[in-house]
Amino acid sequence: MTVKIGIPRALAYYAYYPFWKEFFEKLGLETVISQLTTKQVLDNGIKEAVTDACVPVKLFHGHVLDLKDKADYIFIPRLVSINKEDSVTFCPKFLGLPNMIKASIAGLPPLLDVRVDLKKGKGELFRICYRVGKKFGAGIWNVIQAFRSGLKTQDRYQSLLNQQYTPVEALRIIDGGEEAPLNSSEQDLRFAVLGFPYTIYDKFVNVDILNKLRKLGIKVLTAEMVPPQILLQQAKKVPKNLFWNFSNQVLRAALYYLDNNKVDGIIHVTAFGCGPDAMVDKLIELEAKQRGKVPFMSITIDEQTGEAGLMTRIEAFVDMLTLRREMS
Ligand code: SF4
Repeated sequence: MTVKIGIPRALAYYAYYPFWKEFFEKLGLETVISQLTTKQVLDNGIKEAVTDACVPVKLFHGHVLDLKDKADYIFIPRLVSINKEDSVTFCPKFLGLPNMIKASIAGLPPLLDVRVDLKKGKGELFRICYRVGKKFGAGIWNVIQAFRSGLKTQDRYQSLLNQQYTPVEALRIIDGGEEAPLNSSEQDLRFAVLGFPYTIYDKFVNVDILNKLRKLGIKVLTAEMVPPQILLQQAKKVPKNLFWNFSNQVLRAALYYLDNNKVDGIIHVTAFGCGPDAMVDKLIELEAKQRGKVPFMSITIDEQTGEAGLMTRIEAFVDMLTLRREMS
C-alpha cells in the first residue's frame, strides 16, 4: 500500500508546497492535503492550540487534526531559514511548530519534522531530501530525480506568480488547470494587498478579501507577485533587515510598490496575536507616510473577523481612492 504523506493546508503550504508535493510523489509516495479552511477546522484548531497563539498557528492545528486519520505521516518541517541572508530566520512559532503540535494534539500519526536550515551551506536542501528519501527506502538516483523534479515544479510555480497569478491560481494550473488570461485595464485601480501568504491566500480566514476587491473592479497585486531578486534589492532601502523571513518579504514588497508607481493603495492584512506583524505594520505605515503618495490601510484578522465590518472599511477605502483618481 502506498504511504500517504499529509500536508497541512496552512502556514508554509502557500510558499513551498509545489516542491514538496512533487518530491514526495516522485519518490512514489502519495500526498494528502488537508481540506480547505472552514469554521469547523478553525474551531478545532482553537480548541487544541495554546490560547495566546496567533490565528494562523491555531488554524494550523485545525489542519493537522483534519489529517489525523487520513495520512500515515504528517509533514511538519521545522523551518529555520531558506536563504543565506545573515540573521533572517522564520518566526519562533515556525521554529517550534513540530514540538507545539506534538504537545497539543494526541494520537497523531508520526510527524515528518525535518529541520530546514539552508544557511548550513550549499547542498543542504538535497541532504535533507536524501535523508527523507532514505527513510522511505528510495535509492540515491530516485532521490536525485525527485529533487530535480521538485525544483523544476517550484520554478514553474514562481514563474506563474511573477505573471501575477495568486498562489491558489498557480497551484491549480500546476495541477493541470488552464492558464486563464489575466485581464485588467489601465483604468483599473490597483491595490497591493500585503501580508503573510497564509493570511492573504486563505479565503476563509481573510473573508476572501482578494476576490471581494476584484469584484469591486480592483486589480490586486501581492508580495508573491514580485520576483525574489527584485524583493532582495529593496533590502538596501532599509537600514536593517528584520529577523523574520515572511516579514522581510512583506516590507520589501511594500517598498517596491510604493516606489515604482505600481499601485493606488496598499492594504496590509495582519494577524491578531502576531508580534512580527505589529512591527511590519508600523514600518509600512511610516514608509508610506514619508513618501506621501500612496494611501495605506491596515486590517487585522482574528478568529471573529466579520465580513460586514471588513467590507465597510474596504468599500470606504475604494471609494476614497476612486474619488482621488477622478479629481486628479
Ligand atoms: S509570523 Fe506572526 S502570524 Fe506568522 S506564525 Fe509567527 S506569530 Fe504567527
